[in-house]
Amino acid sequence: MIVELARGLWTTFRALFFEKKVTVQYPEEKRPVSARFRGRHVLNRYENGLEKCIGCSLCAAACPADAIFVESAENSDEKRFSPGERYASTYEINMLRCIYCGFCEDACPTEAITLGDNYELSFYDRRDAIYNKDMLIVPVPQGGQLPPLVTEPGTFTRSVPAMKDPVD
Ligand code: SF4
Ligand code: SF4
Repeated sequence: MIVELARGLWTTFRALFFEKKVTVQYPEEKRPVSARFRGRHVLNRYENGLEKCIGCSLCAAACPADAIFVESAENSDEKRFSPGERYASTYEINMLRCIYCGFCEDACPTEAITLGDNYELSFYDRRDAIYNKDMLIVPVPQGGQLPPLVTEPGTFTRSVPAMKDPVD
């Protein structure tokens, strides 16, 4: 009995004084996630600030959890949010429904929606779990402008930019 007790206490003391600590002081300290981790989504922009999302709803169609809602509106050269004819005037993801499968990312023709490394998702109210476009979209890159932009006619006619290398 005494031997077992001593052995148990030794295990505790050994971990306390001699072994490397594995506890992370979250939230001050955050563990890096794996490169393949799928966390909270972001909506991406081009370098000039235009939104990559063209409001096509392919992500919503691909979503097995019916977590995405997209509403689109028309672009014009005087008031342009994204390349091509349309942009997403409303974009919402219900994070309580999402199962982080990444199908939306795979379905998107412009790489507008990607799953990032943010895993800090907690809510006190179900309504707070619905992330809208303002919450999802990344800031305008340095040197870019916040849409709507006034653009040269004929410069942003393609919704999906031509790839330099078609095998990309
Ligand atoms: S990660 Fe999967 S479940 Fe979540 S929004 Fe995208 S397609 Fe839907
Ligand atoms: S995120 Fe991609 S798939 Fe979804 S509406 Fe925008 S462009 Fe289409």
